[in-house]
Amino acid sequence: MSDIIHLLPDSVANQIAAGEVIQRPASVLKELVENAIDAGATFVRVAIKDAGRTLVQVSDNGKGMSDTDARMAFERHATSKIKDAQDLFSIRTMGFRGEALASIAAVAQVEMRTRREEDELGTLVEIAGSRVFRQEPIQCDKGTTFQVKNLFFNVPARRRFLKSDSVEKNHILQEFYRIVLVHPDVEFSFYDGDDEIFKLPVSNTKLRIEQVFGSAKKKLNQQLLNIETDTNLVAVKGFIGRPEYAQKQAHQFFFVNGRYMRHPYFHKAVMLAYNQLIQPTDNPVYFIYFDVDPQTIDINIHPTKTEIKFENEQAIWSILSATVKEALGKFNVVPSIDFDREGVPDIPVQKADSIISPPKTSFNPSYNPFGASTYKRPQMEWEELYKGFEKQAEISDFNETGQDRPVEIFQSKMNKDSENTGTYFQIKNRYIITSVKSGMLMIDQRRAHIRILFDQFMKEISEKKGFSQQLLFPEVLQLMPDDYLFFEQIKTELRYVGFEFEAEKTYQYQVKGIPAQLKNTSGVLPLLSDMLERVRQATGDALSVIHEQIALSLAETAAIQTGQTMSKKEMTDLVDQLFACPAHNHTPDGKLIMTIWTQDEIQARFK
Ligand code: ADP
Ligand code: MG
Repeated sequence: MSDIIHLLPDSVANQIAAGEVIQRPASVLKELVENAIDAGATFVRVAIKDAGRTLVQVSDNGKGMSDTDARMAFERHATSKIKDAQDLFSIRTMGFRGEALASIAAVAQVEMRTRREEDELGTLVEIAGSRVFRQEPIQCDKGTTFQVKNLFFNVPARRRFLKSDSVEKNHILQEFYRIVLVHPDVEFSFYDGDDEIFKLPVSNTKLRIEQVFGSAKKKLNQQLLNIETDTNLVAVKGFIGRPEYAQKQAHQFFFVNGRYMRHPYFHKAVMLAYNQLIQPTDNPVYFIYFDVDPQTIDINIHPTKTEIKFENEQAIWSILSATVKEALGKFNVVPSIDFDREGVPDIPVQKADSIISPPKTSFNPSYNPFGASTYKRPQMEWEELYKGFEKQAEISDFNETGQDRPVEIFQSKMNKDSENTGTYFQIKNRYIITSVKSGMLMIDQRRAHIRILFDQFMKEISEKKGFSQQLLFPEVLQLMPDDYLFFEQIKTELRYVGFEFEAEKTYQYQVKGIPAQLKNTSGVLPLLSDMLERVRQATGDALSVIHEQIALSLAETAAIQTGQTMSKKEMTDLVDQLFACPAHNHTPDGKLIMTIWTQDEIQARFK
């Protein structure tokens, strides 16, 4: 028998690769406009016809290409932007794979005109279905113009797959917004057929947002609050909407280093800050720009995926959360359910004739807090209360923004309320109640525990060290072929939290160990299938989302049930651990964990 393996012709290989990069007219627009920006353009003109089906045209006044480069640009993996793999980790340009033009040329009819400033004549290249039909010198302006016609003319299946004009146009606009909102220093115009629908002169970020989304009726400027924080991990800048302007549909954008990103986890941080300020069904607008060292993020190499992985995700979460809360607080839009600022010294009122003298201080010069300490904590009743803080210190370590130190605030708060400190009551086997400075604190025991366990599991996943509990009788996990792929996707993470699997047959595993926290739960199999379902449902396939789903699933399984009686000691531990969690007010899926009945509210009931 003769050999049967052969290499695919380039045109076919390009078409296959194109399927990944170019999915719809909006992808063409994105790639072309990004290229224009990368080429240093200060003016970019976009025009589409029939929602981009018949034409996507992008002209720029950027640096143009030589005639050789004009031809090279359409080769696969042809790029001027990175030279070796190392460069991948310090990407600042938009494109870098050198695949876009080759892909577009594989599935459309392309005409490109380009000229460098120093050249007298420019170059015209005509290429369709990866075949070059023409390349010749022409007269043209400095810069580059691409006309991409009849997308998918040679791939009817893909052409049919396109959605209605309004859907495709919406995709196009979304891509356009994602670029123009980070480049206010570039002028843009946008034509749909003969109608100019955007004219965006050079401006600053806030005005650019206004240019794009504002209108005579909707003065966006007045609706936006400024946010700004600069730390050595991240700089966060941008604008968030005043709560009263929240709507069902709202423009929400995250950018990192000048690139649009989706980030469900950070999104949650923003949404939590608005909790109770807006209707649960409403959404605030936000335009938030992160700047980080490019070495600390992992840009998804996949061109159509916009999820980005941050090395310091949790810390940035806290910083973002504090920044948004601060902005909302500064404009007096957050109700003060938070803890009292107890312990802050009162500023005494000075009488006009009183003499002001510098305060006297005394200190022990031989005191060394780090030396072999002779200091012993006095043995007091409330000593118990602090147990657990030591071991929680690691978790709250990253919470160094200085904005939100729940443990300390809680300590001081508990301290002051001396008469009932550390006295917890459980009611309905469901809520833990205690007296605090500002009134009565009620905590939902199960939700509190879910938060604590969730944070623990997330930590174990990220540090790859969970404790395993061997099962006396291993359970057999039989997967459907469908689930198998998802399971493979999360198996490593499951190992990190303490699961142990042994492959038995195809699609069949023995579960030999489970996370130590789960030792009292029956039904490992339902848990695993729940987890698979969640991963399957998870929007986006960013690893961080998968991790969250796993951690949440585990936390919900292992958490104490509503209806379970708790001892004093258990309640104390639970509350301590809860306050060591940075986001102790809400469960990972946004449910309220605790609430305070203020003294006023209580008093009002006795009126
Ligand atoms: P990438 O952007 O990933 O490098 P592309 O296929 O999008 O890959 O483009 C290939 C190359 O063509 C770019 O690296 C750049 O050198 C050149 N190029 C593309 N578009 C333009 C443009 N508008 N102006 C100047 N050069 C361009
Ligand atoms: Mg590109």
